[in-house]
Amino acid sequence: MAGVPDDAEINRILVITAHPDDVDFGAAGTIARWTDAGLEVTYCLVTDGDAGGQDEDFPRAEVPALRRAEQVAAAKCVGVHDVRFLGYPDGRVEATLALRRDLARVIRQVRPDRVVCPSPERNYARTGASHPDHRAVGSAALDAVYPDARNPFAFPELRDDEGLAPWTVREVWVSGSPSPNHFVDVTDTFGRKIAALRAHVSQTGQMDDLEERIRMWLTRAAESAGLPEGRLAESFQVLPTA
Ligand SMILES: [Zn+2]
Repeated sequence: MAGVPDDAEINRILVITAHPDDVDFGAAGTIARWTDAGLEVTYCLVTDGDAGGQDEDFPRAEVPALRRAEQVAAAKCVGVHDVRFLGYPDGRVEATLALRRDLARVIRQVRPDRVVCPSPERNYARTGASHPDHRAVGSAALDAVYPDARNPFAFPELRDDEGLAPWTVREVWVSGSPSPNHFVDVTDTFGRKIAALRAHVSQTGQMDDLEERIRMWLTRAAESAGLPEGRLAESFQVLPTA
């Protein structure tokens, strides 16, 4: 794609998501390929997923710690060891200035060349991809990439009080976009993606058809990418942002 650097020009990647398990449904196969290639990947989760789970008997106060631990375990399945949580309340995320500042802070700390985030657009074909928290996080993440993280005069306290220099992210990969323009063949990392999804026991433990269901989605994506039969793909909308 014109204007978008290939992996050889990328060192660090920051994945911003709303909930534990979002990255594993949307992008874990791609992430396993990146960590295999030696790229450093950091996850930043805006919430702890404290409104998730089906088990009414499980104490709600213990849900955040459980879901953080599940995400840390899932990250390890695909070679990611740096997982950060912002602790916003699940189900009530808005694209506020405070969230933009918190994301700009993480971008300036991690200094990624590439950011992965959810889509701020509603996907009418896939209700689950368009959870309101996903749209809010996608909107705030794109604003944090441009202009907040790179503008020295945006949130001056980040520079003046925390010593965080401005940082320009070169490209954004939007996950769950209604208009994907880039497909990654994840056939060889599919097993690790499933292992990552299974690490979210409180979410996927009851899904007997998890592997089949994911295989069906990824087959459909591979078909729209024109990949040979039997291949699996994850899809993104890639935007140059430098
Ligand atoms: Zn989610």
